[in-house]
Amino acid sequence: MKQVELLVLGGTLVSMDKQRRVIQDAGVAVAGGRIVAVGTRREIASQYSAAQTVEANGKLIVPGLINGHTHIPMTLFRGLADDLDLQEWLTKYIFPAEAKNVSEEFVRAGTRLGLAEMIRGGTTTYCDMYYFEDAIADETAKAGVRGVLGETVIDFPVADNKTNAEAMAYVERFVKHWQGNDLIIPAIAPHAPYSVSEEHLKAARAFSDRTGAPIVMHIAETKREVDDSLKAKGASPIDYLERIGFLSNRLIAAHVVWPSAGEIGILKRAGVGVVHNPQSNMKLADGVAPVPKMMQEGLRVGLGTDGAASNNDLSMWEEMDTAAKLHKVFSGDPKVMSAKEAFELATIRGAQALHLENEIGSIETGKRADLVIVERDSFNQIPLYNVYSDLVYATKANDVETVIINGRIVMRNRRLLTLNEAEIKASAQKFRDQVARSLGTLGTQP
Ligand SMILES: [Zn+2]
Repeated sequence: MKQVELLVLGGTLVSMDKQRRVIQDAGVAVAGGRIVAVGTRREIASQYSAAQTVEANGKLIVPGLINGHTHIPMTLFRGLADDLDLQEWLTKYIFPAEAKNVSEEFVRAGTRLGLAEMIRGGTTTYCDMYYFEDAIADETAKAGVRGVLGETVIDFPVADNKTNAEAMAYVERFVKHWQGNDLIIPAIAPHAPYSVSEEHLKAARAFSDRTGAPIVMHIAETKREVDDSLKAKGASPIDYLERIGFLSNRLIAAHVVWPSAGEIGILKRAGVGVVHNPQSNMKLADGVAPVPKMMQEGLRVGLGTDGAASNNDLSMWEEMDTAAKLHKVFSGDPKVMSAKEAFELATIRGAQALHLENEIGSIETGKRADLVIVERDSFNQIPLYNVYSDLVYATKANDVETVIINGRIVMRNRRLLTLNEAEIKASAQKFRDQVARSLGTLGTQP
């Protein structure tokens, strides 16, 4: 018998490996944060023993979900302002609320709230862009969650850095500090092509080339962004970014709602990862990203919730369900995205979008042990005919029972083991009152 650290035994395993194997009465052996063997319960239990065993009989074992685009501390702005278009929402509510409230303490509290929500919903990796990203990394590592975390670079003074020089110095320290960590991949996050100058974008690209750090960015989110870019630069955002040599296989582009016909090919050739945010795009009436076409053309494309102020939750279950249905209604073709493809967006394709497909996104020997156990006896889930249908169209975040990240159990039987629920709720309320006071009459919409 080989000794390992953790065994998961029983249940139906949805591997998302190349053959998309689904194994009944499965077993997984975990050691050193990685999956060392996957098979049937009999195969695994006869070869491996461990001090710790998680019983998954009657449940589903799936790869940890990957939330490809968030602004995690914005959980504290959840419901602050809704039902507006992007520019009005940003300039009248979000930017003023951020200017008056975002501090390191605020970011830490919002991050813990977001982490609790994500673990509860089976998300094991997320890709973020915000301020004080070093504090976000610290909270994320402490909670045992995996993150590609990008410190924002933007051409106006923000909470943590007042100038581009300060932001670049912050990113330098931040990336140096976290590179090599088992859970945290530090990144640089130029906000968008319209909010960061060409010179500063080129510096961000050079930084990424020198350090290997990924670049996280919003691209072509609205029609207006494309129109403004055509007027100001004589090129659409993606065209412009290609022209200045910005695109690379370390870039993770959120949204890409409005690529022109040829631009999907440009992104594919450059190896850019794209993250689709259907609920945020719908709520802000941005439009519908051509995701089925991107998938057909073999683009790296994943799925994200965006910040909780524009969604308003961080549930990847809702996001998968929405993605599949949005593309059906938009194309008039119910076959345009299947439940299985929607589940791929939240797992193996999501890993590709973050350029991490060799590490996460499926349950396979050698990969990081990011595993989620989903109960399947809720009224909304029974009976079971097809696992992908059940996962995408019927399962809710509340059905997640146990979460393992990098081989460590961070939630067991719905109890969070790395975060303090009472403290998280109390500080969310405290900051809610502070934000409302800071905005005066604008504090809450009627
Ligand atoms: Zn965003």
